Amino acid sequence: KFISFEGIDGAGKSTHIGFVADFLKTAGKSVVSSREPGGTGVGEKLREMLLHEKMDLETEALLMFASRREHIAQVIEPAMARGDWVLSDRFTDASFAYQGGGRGLDRAKLETLENWVHPHLQPDLTLLFDVPLEVARKRLDATRTLDKFEQEQADFFSACRNEYLRRAAQFPHRIVVVDSTRTIDETRAQLTHVLEKLIA
Ligand code: C5P
Repeated sequence: KFISFEGIDGAGKSTHIGFVADFLKTAGKSVVSSREPGGTGVGEKLREMLLHEKMDLETEALLMFASRREHIAQVIEPAMARGDWVLSDRFTDASFAYQGGGRGLDRAKLETLENWVHPHLQPDLTLLFDVPLEVARKRLDATRTLDKFEQEQADFFSACRNEYLRRAAQFPHRIVVVDSTRTIDETRAQLTHVLEKLIA
């Protein structure tokens, strides 16, 4: 199975990916953990550019999907063919949230890219870690220096969050919203509940 992890910067998704991986391994599953942009040699080079260079919005979207194409071909599809579980830190919902909602790229263009790059592949489960903007900003400021994307204005993140929530409403069978203002233990309890259903 294929699980993606989503949320605006500072929503806490990174904190919980390790927990999910350990949970699945304990349940006897083979787990491959990866991320986007990145996850392959080419993808990590693209990530470097995407995170640090200023570029045209459409270039950004195309490079995100180029990284994704490589990730699917090199990591996700081979792992799924072996019967492994794939955990991806971000997938296509992030392009809709960041390049679409945040930066304003036409949703139809993102859908064209999605239909090109993965017409038949969708995550079996997407965990959307959701927090109000102020909580996310506080968490980020306390822990590390901000990269190019993280320095953007609060209204950018607000637009990203809204697009994530819109997609959660559009694809309720796939996307589970995790209230990330709760304690780590409470969130783990929710994750355990969701994963037990997926394993069964
Ligand atoms: O998930 P992570 O925080 O490592 O992502 C790195 C950065 O890339 C994030 O700050 C996010 O804002 C940005 N990003 C993006 N569009 C995507 C995926 C990630 O702008 N499709």
